[in-house]
Amino acid sequence: MCSVTPWAALAGGVERDGTQAQSGGDMTIGNGSQLSRRAIIQVGLLVLATGVSARAEAQQKIAANLVQYQQKPKGTQECDRCLHFVPPDGCKVVAGKINPKGWCALFAPKPK
Ligand code: SF4
Repeated sequence: MCSVTPWAALAGGVERDGTQAQSGGDMTIGNGSQLSRRAIIQVGLLVLATGVSARAEAQQKIAANLVQYQQKPKGTQECDRCLHFVPPDGCKVVAGKINPKGWCALFAPKPK
């Protein structure tokens, strides 16, 4: 076991003060927890994958023109009464800026 700062572990074993950190095995970080280099890399990859996944989800929204989106309500149906509406001007399923008084074919009433 050795006490190595996380940046030293990721930078190939060189501490900020220029000394060589011990390599291999587990490391102790500030709070006394032990982490292996493999664990640190796995956490980094997980964070990276989560970011890519979130971006992919954002791109999967439907284009407004494909769901007959309009800037005005359809009868009593309007975006701010829809389950998918995200105030102040978003929608969980339709891309772009959404007018709270707009409407589209995916309208689903909020539960009462
Ligand atoms: S009516 Fe359509 S655009 Fe408006 S919030 Fe609901 S799903 Fe989104």
